[in-house]
Amino acid sequence: MGAVRPKKHLGQHFLHDQHIAQRIVEALQASGYDKILEIGPGTGILTTLLLQRFGKKAVHVIDIDRDSIAWLREHLPLPVTHIVEGDFLRLDPNALPAQHFGLIGNLPYNISSQIFFRLLEWRQRVPEMVCMIQKEVADRLTSPPGNKTYGILSVLLQAYYDIDYLFTVKPGAFNPPPKVNSAVIRLVRNSTRQLDCDEKLFSQIVKQGFQNRRKTLRNALKPLNLPFRENAEPLLNQRAEQLGVKDFVQLTQLAQ
Ligand code: SAH
Repeated sequence: MGAVRPKKHLGQHFLHDQHIAQRIVEALQASGYDKILEIGPGTGILTTLLLQRFGKKAVHVIDIDRDSIAWLREHLPLPVTHIVEGDFLRLDPNALPAQHFGLIGNLPYNISSQIFFRLLEWRQRVPEMVCMIQKEVADRLTSPPGNKTYGILSVLLQAYYDIDYLFTVKPGAFNPPPKVNSAVIRLVRNSTRQLDCDEKLFSQIVKQGFQNRRKTLRNALKPLNLPFRENAEPLLNQRAEQLGVKDFVQLTQLAQ
């Protein structure tokens, strides 16, 4: 590798450890879809292994970096149309590789949260995602309630995905090494097609509830001005970080 000079502003840290790359690609369970979209392939360490495992018909990649794209077009046996130069965050849903597809990537850490919000929008189309992110974010997403690291994305993602923390990766596995530890997680869509409440309101309540995580939900949710029923009291007396997905669903039901 070393073919493309890493650019800091694009969050480029190229993985050079083949063994870790293999473990990431093998982590895909690949059930319920037959197309895969890789976010930020860079110089293709994962892409090459994805091609070996799934074949060139299955693999699509998108990277914002022109140099990486040029390099991939030259070196990978992928159809031109499967190598997209662009911003994943602005990807048109009509341009996605299939109705159902898996996501994979060593994500650019600076936009990983935005990528997960995109995943939430596309949750009915993405049965599985395997990704490398900052370890701290991985801890947050896999955290149970009652924990300081538990937050908005923990609740929203855990509502729709079973999330596994797979393994930790040290900075030395990358060029250049990031300042933080990394971790690989797997998200598999759970069987909840739809939450048992108004899903939009659920997400509003979760977001607002964590705006002031030290306040009780009664106070934190005041700006939403919701007509809570009386039996919501026990939940409203708690703080957002104490509530699991089911509690937030119940609270949402009691706000309608
Ligand atoms: N998968 C490669 C590179 C990981 S670095 C490896 O493991 O070595 C993150 C990659 O995401 C970079 O290639 C960077 O150009 C790309 N990237 C950054 N922002 C992006 C965006 N908004 N959309 C798509 N790709 C992006």
